[in-house]
Amino acid sequence: MPLYTMLCDECGAEQDIFRSVARIDADLPQCHGVMRRKVCAPMVIADIQPYQAMGVDVATGDAPMITSRSKHRDYLKRNGYVELGNEMPNMKKREIHGDFNVRAELAQAVKEVLPKHTA
Ligand SMILES: [Zn+2]
Repeated sequence: MPLYTMLCDECGAEQDIFRSVARIDADLPQCHGVMRRKVCAPMVIADIQPYQAMGVDVATGDAPMITSRSKHRDYLKRNGYVELGNEMPNMKKREIHGDFNVRAELAQAVKEVLPKHTA
């Protein structure tokens, strides 16, 4: 949701509000009357500095040079990579198939090995 700065024409007080674009004119804050929207520059984030990727790109088979935020996003998405620190907290663990009834095998191995070392 965008951040808007509201201004009181009477005393110059300012207040920041978060509103959806559709609801910008609803429930406007009051000071000495209804505050109006102050026109100001939008917040802009600079693009990232180019960097050499550490992982191989499935599209090329090489670790690419990433030159922009959108290329960074596409690269991560295309390869199923996740930025360290941006993992989803409850990502589903992949199901692992296989025979995990190793208890009996371990018990058998211990029975075979133990007498040799205790005798
Ligand atoms: Zn005011």
